[in-house]
Amino acid sequence: MVDATERDGMTWYQCEHCGLLFDDESDASQHEDNCAGDDPSYLQ
Ligand SMILES: [Zn+2]
Repeated sequence: MVDATERDGMTWYQCEHCGLLFDDESDASQHEDNCAGDDPSYLQ
């Protein structure tokens, strides 16, 4: 689940795994689905 955060009057969406910020919620959630993060089981 992406984490929404407000900054400079804009809402940003942060990947829970790696902390990357997106200005678009669908981009963030798509990234998060594919983000390896720190879970090695996703690397295969
Ligand atoms: Zn990520």
